[in-house]
Amino acid sequence: MKDKIVRVAQDLPPAHARLVLDVGDYYVTPGLIDIHTHFDAGGADLNLQPDHHALPNGVTTAVDAGGSGHRNFEAFKSRTIDHSKTRILAWLNIVGAGMYGPEVENDVAEMDAAACAAMVKKYPDIIVGVKTAHFQPPTWDAVDRAVEAGKLSSKPVMVDFAQKPGRLYSDLLLKHLRPGDIHTHFYGRANPLLDENKKIAPYALAARQRGVLFDVGHGAGSFLFRNAVPAIQQGFLPDTISTDIHKRSIMLPRADMTTTMSKLLNIGLSMDQVVERSTVNAAEAIHRPDLGHLSEGGIADLAVLEIQKGKFGFVDSGLNRLIGDRRIRCVLTIRAGKVAWDADGLSLADWKNAGPYTNYR
Ligand SMILES: [Zn+2]
Repeated sequence: MKDKIVRVAQDLPPAHARLVLDVGDYYVTPGLIDIHTHFDAGGADLNLQPDHHALPNGVTTAVDAGGSGHRNFEAFKSRTIDHSKTRILAWLNIVGAGMYGPEVENDVAEMDAAACAAMVKKYPDIIVGVKTAHFQPPTWDAVDRAVEAGKLSSKPVMVDFAQKPGRLYSDLLLKHLRPGDIHTHFYGRANPLLDENKKIAPYALAARQRGVLFDVGHGAGSFLFRNAVPAIQQGFLPDTISTDIHKRSIMLPRADMTTTMSKLLNIGLSMDQVVERSTVNAAEAIHRPDLGHLSEGGIADLAVLEIQKGKFGFVDSGLNRLIGDRRIRCVLTIRAGKVAWDADGLSLADWKNAGPYTNYR
């Protein structure tokens, strides 16, 4: 039971605890769930090491977004998923060879819905659904084959999409995606979320009505203040907050989880709304109701977050700046009952009172 939450209550007796932490100044949340990441210890060049980028940001569950397809998922699993402290889940790319450049990603012959669905069904607890991304030809093949694989495996799809003549965003949202399918990067530049008067396009409202989900997927090119701010001011909030973290997005736009959450906080979401979209909503979107909440009997994945007050600058994917007055910092992360990140040594004894180094390792 050391990896489970045993009790949630006020005034639990400290004597029953192995470790007592004073977190009165902070928010204690479920471990954060980032449903759009690029985490692979090997694989394509843009990938990052999961534990170094997830756990310091409070992320205990990260979903790799299509790095691998049915041909190479098992290699990804053995080199990364099986060796990470972070819980790594995956969207399986409809492209059999995975996210390895335009030659395979634009090749419709690589998109075998049945083979994709078979691999999803082989690992139903790790593979949360099907991903399509970067498809350049102006046809529906990639989206429709991903949805087909989603139907065959009873899983949602996550779609990275760029509108082109003959391939309209409105048709994606209203005709091609199913309720529960996810459009990621929706505050980006590739699709018209706003009309010419900066009002939310009617088809986006209609899509939300029919249950299509809108995910941030910040990334290096897909989160623009000029889209996000007017949309949020009109009440069009994301369903889920995710980073699309990779080697480029982590740099100038700083698309890590707590920074991405901080941007949305400063645009106007409440802390409750930010946390909800990074935990319980994310768990629902990937059909993992066991995650994303602090409940007795649940896995002990927790984040301890601080809201710092001051003057802070934030950068979007268009390299524009937004000045804000609050910043979320991850103080401590617990993964499966163990402290995995402790920025301030909160779980440790002060050195002056620590006694002899009998526990020195
Ligand atoms: Zn991505």
